[in-house]
Amino acid sequence: MILEGNQYQIQGHMLTDIAEEFGTPLYVYDGDRIVEQYNKLKKAFSGIDVKLKYAAKALTNINIVKLLKEAGAGFDAVCINEVKLALKVGFEPKEIIYTPNCVAFEEIQEAIALGVNINIDSLPFLEKVGEVYGNDLPVCIRINPHIQAGGNANIQVGHIGSKFGISILQFDEILEVVEKYNINVVGLHEHTGSDILDTDVFLKGAKVLFGKAKHFPNLKFLDFGSGFKVAYKDGDVITNIPELGEKMTEAVQEFFKEHGKELEIWFEPGKFLVSESGHFLVRTNIIKETPACTFIGVDSGFNHLIRPMLYSSYHHIANISNPEGRRKVYNVVGNICETDTFGSDREIAEARVGDFLAFKNSGAYGFEMSSNFNSRLKPAEVLIYKGKAQLIRKRQVFDDLLRDQIEIDL
Ligand SMILES: *Cc1c(COP(=O)(O)O)cnc(C)c1O
Repeated sequence: MILEGNQYQIQGHMLTDIAEEFGTPLYVYDGDRIVEQYNKLKKAFSGIDVKLKYAAKALTNINIVKLLKEAGAGFDAVCINEVKLALKVGFEPKEIIYTPNCVAFEEIQEAIALGVNINIDSLPFLEKVGEVYGNDLPVCIRINPHIQAGGNANIQVGHIGSKFGISILQFDEILEVVEKYNINVVGLHEHTGSDILDTDVFLKGAKVLFGKAKHFPNLKFLDFGSGFKVAYKDGDVITNIPELGEKMTEAVQEFFKEHGKELEIWFEPGKFLVSESGHFLVRTNIIKETPACTFIGVDSGFNHLIRPMLYSSYHHIANISNPEGRRKVYNVVGNICETDTFGSDREIAEARVGDFLAFKNSGAYGFEMSSNFNSRLKPAEVLIYKGKAQLIRKRQVFDDLLRDQIEIDL
């Protein structure tokens, strides 16, 4: 989003025009920005051939998935339906990695039948895979390195109390099961969480996997997951991607020498690729003065963007209809029957009823986590790509709320 002549625009499209044309609440994505982010990450590792598997759970609109496929990305799925989406878009099964947690074993078997890379994250399922498939199935093992990192307790997934992966402290048991069934281990995986600032955390995690690689002679890849942090506020510290690229490249090349052969290096970025591309546009319904503060009440709520309430995340809020207005302090809230504060004590250009506000950094885990709470309809989505703004998801209508319900005789 560029403030040009004090107008908020993406690729020459005024965001206020987009809001008028497509209505609000509305998610708008800058497709060119997504490709830029992909290339930035790819370039940071130019010394080694890294494969970037898009963690699609951040934003699964089929057009975004296609766009990243065209850019050269692979696909990281956490659910069988994401596997099916990737195949539908045309990814080769070998470009897809399926990393489920606590799903039914039958779901894993379904993914196995589809031929994608399987990431096993528990000892019972490793045992089961051994029992059922013996040596026939190439498997990746998700290790929990117990490195505590990440922006918020809910997105820290590598620590000792986390449900993810097989604990590094149970590594001997992993080896026992692998030997017992002669399991063909082709990959080792870790993902320590989101919003990791310190590049050394990535290196620490990488070294854990480097140290275990020698136990698996058929190893083809190491997957270091994700956790790249983006800036939500001006001046926010972010993961230093060039620095990370340099340090990782050096560490990986050193490891290759020790290991005696090269392996593929994978990452699974979600937020990094799509967060900054997305803007969530809402309309001001009411300005409500109270003895304590002034509220801007907008035509949305945590049913459309839950990150501020779930993760206490910060989204910059701009009044795109009155960018030059006098700045005032507001609490921006939604319209549902639940406390749904998007931002407190925010300095925003004076808002009037009807003004459009834009929430920045809404591309990742925005629409994707939306719901129909309060019987509110889900927003539409627009993609601006190569200069063209197009609707990529219809706004829901009343009938959508009843679509899956079955009315019985009472
Ligand atoms: C969520 C997730 C990611 C993506 O995390 P981001 O912080 O969005 O980049 C990658 N890998 C796995 C296994 C995940 O669960």
